[in-house]
Amino acid sequence: MTSKTAIQKKTGMYENVMAEFNKAADTIQLNPGVRKILATTQNEIVVHFPARLDDGSIEVFTGYRVQHNNALGPYKGGLRYHPTLDIDSARALATWMTWKTALAGLPYGGGKGGIEIDPKAYSQSELERITRRFTYALGDNIGPDYDIPAPDVGTNSQIMAWIADTFSSNKAPSQRFSNYHVVTGKPVVSGGLEGRDRATGFGVVVTIKKWAKLKDINLIGKKYIVQGFGNVGYWASHFMAKTGAILVGVQDHTGTIYNENGINPEELTEYNQQNQGIDGFPGADKFSDEDFFGIDCDILIPAALGNQINMENVNSIKAPLIAEGANGPTQSDAEQILIDKGITIIPDILCNSGGVIGSYFEWLQNRRSEIWKISDVLVKLEDKVETSFDKVISVMEEYDTDMRTAAYVVALKRLEQTYIERGVFP
Ligand code: NAD
Repeated sequence: MTSKTAIQKKTGMYENVMAEFNKAADTIQLNPGVRKILATTQNEIVVHFPARLDDGSIEVFTGYRVQHNNALGPYKGGLRYHPTLDIDSARALATWMTWKTALAGLPYGGGKGGIEIDPKAYSQSELERITRRFTYALGDNIGPDYDIPAPDVGTNSQIMAWIADTFSSNKAPSQRFSNYHVVTGKPVVSGGLEGRDRATGFGVVVTIKKWAKLKDINLIGKKYIVQGFGNVGYWASHFMAKTGAILVGVQDHTGTIYNENGINPEELTEYNQQNQGIDGFPGADKFSDEDFFGIDCDILIPAALGNQINMENVNSIKAPLIAEGANGPTQSDAEQILIDKGITIIPDILCNSGGVIGSYFEWLQNRRSEIWKISDVLVKLEDKVETSFDKVISVMEEYDTDMRTAAYVVALKRLEQTYIERGVFP
């Protein structure tokens, strides 16, 4: 089947972030000077760099790192390897990271970047050379106390290991290990945190459980669908299965599958790993791509790319709850329609914050030369996500607003306070 990724349009996500930001800034009448600062990214790094392919030829790639804001701490955010990555989406994703880290109460700012590339079109050795050369091109624009990347779409712990190795190999021998936490999401034996792999999906399910408790809803037997079956989509499904909810539909870049009696997430992830996609999975029927969002279900978990819920499909959505595992999956105009219909959206900056919280734990573990147990990690993670959820609900009630605006209000107030306390140099 034709790859959906290959034909996908670039999306214009920054417009969405600004619409969300302006709504929340108006709600709290954000300090005008702070508003100007936060409406702008601080640094935008674009690098063009060469790498040698397996056939000996040279290809030149374009990489990005956008640093939105570091008022609360070092820039933090993932690296995406995807053909739709451009300066606009890097800007949007970096800005969302500032809100996400501020909402979670972490000592971080926001950054994001990556390479405009389809990683599936390259061999492992090519990806290694591309990643190492990208790291070299970024140079000291990243660093363990300055800007700390992590995995995102199309990148994984192996890529983080290559970045950590390349970055620290370019330091003096005595400083190599004090630079290894330049990235989080590393493999466990190479300084990674046990549980970082599942942190985002786990956090998504923590927020769904909090919502269910608030609404007095029993999740046993509730039907849910997931768009994207990578890191976030799989782990969210894994933890949803433990609640007794039933996965009935999944979509990824290769197609859409449906089974009203339930799809086993563990069997699907095994198939996905072997086949590089979910298309053809024997435990479900093939389903129309266009009708995915209209599947009759109780919970929709977008866990793929941005702007997937838009004016073309919003009216078909039946789920009363959307839990945003992905960053920016809901386009702003479509969101208003969902709110008017009484559909709850647990916003990305809250719903998928388990990922950056897990990254923070890994960074702390590295700085302190500690090894944390996975059981402790998940308990701490749950506590932090639950605390943010409670804060958002109380602001929602205070301002009589939707959940996304409330989440922004918590984040913006923290940023506003720090700027007012410190002032603007000189
Ligand atoms: P991933 O690369 O592991 O998986 C991405 C999934 O999206 C794949 O299943 C892919 O097939 C699917 N996909 C790609 N294009 C698609 C399309 N056009 N239609 C349907 N499906 C498509 O990425 P991930 O790390 O799981 O990230 C998914 C989302 O979650 C992204 O928006 C990312 O920014 C966000 N997120 C990730 C983390 C993390 O820790 N990995 C943390 C917070 C937020």
